[in-house]
This record gives sequence, C-alpha cells and structure tokens, in this order.
Amino acid sequence: MDFSTNDTIAAIATAPGRGGVGIVRVSGNKAAKIAEQVLGICPKPRYAHYGSFLGAEGQVLDQGIALFFPNPHSFTGEDVLELQGHGGPVILQWLLERVVQLGARLAEPGEFSKQAFLNDKLDLAQAEAIADLIDASSQQAARSALKSLQGDFSNQVNELVEQLIQLRIYVEAAIDFPEEEIDFLSDGKVAGQLQHILEQLHRVLAAAQQGVLLREGMSVVILGRPNAGKSSLLNALSGRESAIVTDIAGTTRDIVKEEIQIDGMPLHVLDTAGLREATDAVEQIGIQRAWAAIEEADRILVMVQANEAIHPEDQAILEKMPSHIPVTLIHNKIDLMEKSPGLVENEGETEIWLSAKHHLGLDLLKQHLKTEMGYAQTEEGVFMARKRHLEALETALHFVETGQQQLEHFAAGELLAEDLRQAQQALSEITGQFTSDDLLGRIFTSFCIGK
Ligand code: GDP
Ligand code: ZN
Repeated sequence: MDFSTNDTIAAIATAPGRGGVGIVRVSGNKAAKIAEQVLGICPKPRYAHYGSFLGAEGQVLDQGIALFFPNPHSFTGEDVLELQGHGGPVILQWLLERVVQLGARLAEPGEFSKQAFLNDKLDLAQAEAIADLIDASSQQAARSALKSLQGDFSNQVNELVEQLIQLRIYVEAAIDFPEEEIDFLSDGKVAGQLQHILEQLHRVLAAAQQGVLLREGMSVVILGRPNAGKSSLLNALSGRESAIVTDIAGTTRDIVKEEIQIDGMPLHVLDTAGLREATDAVEQIGIQRAWAAIEEADRILVMVQANEAIHPEDQAILEKMPSHIPVTLIHNKIDLMEKSPGLVENEGETEIWLSAKHHLGLDLLKQHLKTEMGYAQTEEGVFMARKRHLEALETALHFVETGQQQLEHFAAGELLAEDLRQAQQALSEITGQFTSDDLLGRIFTSFCIGK
C-alpha cells in the first residue's frame, strides 16, 4: 500500500443492500471537478445541494442531495464530496462508475479512515475505534468504542507519554553531570515519578483489558447429550436478544456457533453436537476444523441432567480436549429433583446446579463466567481496546519496571533512561506516532470498504 498517494478515492459508504438513502463518498483533489461534472455545479461548502446526478451523456442517473467539504475541514482532511441518492444497489453502482469515469479510483477497505489518520484528523486508536463502533454488538461495546473515538484512551496514553518524556529529560540531565548523578537519582523525585507512572499504567491496562473483553468476548465449547438443555441455556443466558446461529465455514455437519452476550460480554459458543461420529472424509475435515476452533476456547461447559452423570460419549470428547482448557460441569433441570441452585468449586473444577427452563441459578453461571474472564461490567472509565494495545501497554509496563530496578539496585541512570525511551516508544505505537507501514496496512485493510 502506498501512503503518499495523490489519488482521488471513491466508494459506496452505506451498507450493501437496499435502503432509503445510499451514499457515494469521494475524497481527493478531483472531488470538486467531479462535483461540477455530476451536478453541473460544485455545491457551496457544507451546504446541502439538491439536484440531479448526471451521467456522461447528460442523462439523469438519480436525484438527491450533494455535500461538499473542502480540505482541510473534512473527515479525511482532503476535499470530500458526498452524493446521497436512493439506496438501491443499481443506482449506487451507476453513481460509483460515474465518479470513477471522472478520475476517481475505487477505495481500498478503510482507506478513508487511513487518510484521516495520515492527515492527523484522528490518531490510530481513534481510527480503530471507528471500526469497533461499527462492529459493536452490544450497547456496552458501542459506548466504549465511542469513548475511544472521542479520545479517552488516547488522552490517557498521551499523558503517560508526556510524563515519560519529562522524566527522561530529568534523568538525562543527571547523566550529563556525572558528579551529581547519584544525588539526582537518589533524591526520591525520580523514584516517586516512576511509581506514579507505574500506577497509572496499571490502571490504563486494567481498563484496556475490559475493553478487549468487550470487543473479543469469551469463547466456550458446550458439550451435552441431546435434550440436556443446551439451547434452553443459551436462550436463557442471552435474555431478550435471540441467539444468532451461524455455520462454521466449510463444515458440512451440524457444528454450530452461537453468539450471545452476558451483560455486554460477547460469548461465542461452539455446540459440539456434530463431533460425535464421523463416517466419511468430508465430515472428518469438518470435525478437524471444529477441533481447531475448540483449541482456542477459554472454557468448556459440560451439561448434564441433574440426576445423571457425564455420558461416556461426552467423556470421550472431554478427554480429547486440550487439558489447559478449564471445565465447568452444569447440572440442569434441578426443578425436577427439587434441588436448589448452587455452585461448588473443587480443585479448580466448578460444578453448578441450575434450571435453564425455569431461570434458576443463571446468575451463578453468569457471575462464574464473568469472574473467570475478569470481566467487571462497570462502564466507568472503560474504553474500547484491542490486543495490540494490550501488548503495547504490557511492553511499556515491563520497561518501566526494569527501569525502576535499574534505579533501585544499581543507580544506573543511563540504563534507566534507555528503559524510559523504550516504554515511551511502545506507548506511542498505540496512537500511531511510531508505526510501520506494515502495521498500518494490517489495521486498515480489516475495515470495510467506504469507511
Ligand atoms: P438441547 O438438545 O441440549 O439443546 O436441549 P433443549 O434446550 O432443546 O431442551 C430439551 C428439553 O428439555 C426441552 O423440552 C426443554 O424444555 C427441556 N428443558 C431444558 N431445561 C430444562 C429445565 O431446567 N427443566 C426442565 N424441567 N426441562 C428443561
Ligand atoms: Zn439444542
């Protein structure tokens, strides 16, 4: 991907399919010329212009609203033209072809956001928050993505970077005056600042971990005989939001993945009904894929009826599971035995008694799953974050901690300064001050077209 392009880019910005309104967005220095050709006039900046959208022979392609945002006061920082027509795929395709004919090229996925980042309209964490906001599947996820988009996360990172810079200046000054170095480093100011930065880093990391959980959720495998109550449990857990069932790509068998949420935490559930017997080769491939997905699971739920033991067939599957994945045994249908809901922890294994149908003991299970994942559910200070952000924060934490040791045990100012520099660099990757083209490419190509 070439970042220094002078191209004018275009895409359909609204979702595929039919809708009341559909938008073609154009960004780049040809936007004004394109407006003149399509509308007969370049609209007054930031004013809605109603008119016909014209084809090459002057024929009317559609009627609608056009908006023109001259640079730098636009989303991308370039000249932007928005053509809001009727939301039908044929019409929008005509409009897109028309602007391409007039010199625009089709935008790559995420290219508008990338342009906004390159023109300093947004930092990298904010650009990622746009994608996360659009992808958000719960209200909590949407709210925290909005917080990141508004800069909550970036501001905290920038504040840490600023403190690291100040401390580096102080420490490097000490190094330049070696006779005073020891005094400088032992006067308590550096140690105090380091401690302060560490505490703040821990707080940001904890909030970011919640953000990653909101985005990525928890993955569980559910094992159980037909009629154990697996579907009932999933419906009961998901509350009003009904479970969405999707096939794992490429499997011919009935291995389904359901997406539900508990208190805003996404739960990806793999139902293993199809894992039982494999007769032909195609089925076996499907089963292998299912197993590959299982390897990544955070937890296995085994569901039995309260008066039954684990069935040998489930036991056999359980024994093939990677041993590092923890197991929770769920005894369902306690209403039939007049037993009360309950939870017992035993050598790292948890057993829960509940009734899926009568909604008894569900809170025990929800709380158990949230606790296992460290999901706090307070929205206070939580912003959307990604694994890449966590890694950067952890790296920064590591360097600040080693820096602290350099100071405490060796009074080694130069090593401390180097650790501070590394911590600063790691944090700057979050907002994109230091990023490789490679990383940018990976981030933006995961966006959808027109974003
Ligand atoms: P699955 O095959 O494991 O998905 O099981 P289902 O969720 O389809 O449930 C099988 C049957 O058990 C249905 O008739 C449910 O109504 C019933 N069932 C599920 N949970 C309970 C429960 O807690 N108590 C009772 N009495 N019946 C239940
Ligand atoms: Zn079922």
